[in-house]
Amino acid sequence: INPRNALNFSGGPGALAQSVLQQVQEAIQEAPGAGLSILGVSHRSDWFAAVVAEAEANVRMLLGLPADYRILFLQGGATQQFSMVPMSLLSGSTLAADYLHTGYWSGKALPEARREGPVRTVWSGADCGFARLPTDAELDFAADAPYLHYVSNETVEGLQFDRVLGRDDVPRICDMSSDFLSAPGDYERFALIYAHAQKNLGPAGVTVVAVKEALMAGMQRDLPGFLDYRAQADAHSIYNTPPVFAIYVVMLVTRWLRDDIGGLAAMDAINRKKAALLYRALDDSDGFYRGRAARADRSRMNVAFNLPDAATERAFLQQAEAAGFSGLAGHRSVGGVRASLYNGLEIEAAAKLVEFMEGFRLQWR
Ligand code: PLP
Repeated sequence: INPRNALNFSGGPGALAQSVLQQVQEAIQEAPGAGLSILGVSHRSDWFAAVVAEAEANVRMLLGLPADYRILFLQGGATQQFSMVPMSLLSGSTLAADYLHTGYWSGKALPEARREGPVRTVWSGADCGFARLPTDAELDFAADAPYLHYVSNETVEGLQFDRVLGRDDVPRICDMSSDFLSAPGDYERFALIYAHAQKNLGPAGVTVVAVKEALMAGMQRDLPGFLDYRAQADAHSIYNTPPVFAIYVVMLVTRWLRDDIGGLAAMDAINRKKAALLYRALDDSDGFYRGRAARADRSRMNVAFNLPDAATERAFLQQAEAAGFSGLAGHRSVGGVRASLYNGLEIEAAAKLVEFMEGFRLQWR
């Protein structure tokens, strides 16, 4: 395995566990039990049905979701969910859905919802440059909203909610793309959760949706089948040719989380250690590394920061790349530096980055 994979700090696609990469490499030759390369296995085979069943069971078990949730593997990325959600639940409504605008990605969901029906922005961080998340006192949710939509972890700004938002009598819908399966939580309090794979779960091409059956029952009926959650659920995620390879890797990653890591509490402990290392490096740098996010809202998945000026940032990124670190440039919309610490990134990698940062700072001063 190429050692650079262990030092992949990209915002996505992110680092995958070395043991998973090893299995993927073997599966390119022959997927165990399939007798063929994973790239040539039929999506209609019993073998693949078992892969989907295990991936579903693993996600359900890890999130602690009961039988009245369906676990779907869809295509179109998280972006398609920005549309599928309002197409299914907002079209024709006179009541506005509640949306939070807490950063770049929740901002991408908003106009897609507005195409379908009325939307109310409960809170926007635009005025503060998306430097922080709202407090409970700033949030006033509507009792009659068809649903509430928010993003649990803003990947670009490095802001993460550490609580569940909204009212229990309004369906909660959450884009968890960048912190899915990173920690235990009250996932049963959500009516629909979606997350694309390319952060914590595997390669791009598949998006996991966990949806409560009761929510599906009330959905718009005349959508194209491909965009209809119920049609996808009825087809057990094989409505058309699914991304077999991507779903296989999701199965391997969720198996790794279950067996090698030991579940989400153990994963969370590791993720907290990595984030603590990085944030300590920022806080102990005499202002050389300046975190973007307000302390209370710091993400454990994406650590976004700036250096004293753009030239120093460029030098940092160049030297980091030369030292073997990948993917540290901030999102193109904000620049700066971003260290993403997804599940597959090991503590040792975070420690190596901190060591590099300390060396760079001392050399620069
Ligand atoms: N939501 C979040 C939180 C993201 O981080 C991203 C992309 O990074 C998206 C949505 C868009 O995802 P996709 O490219 O899969 O459509």
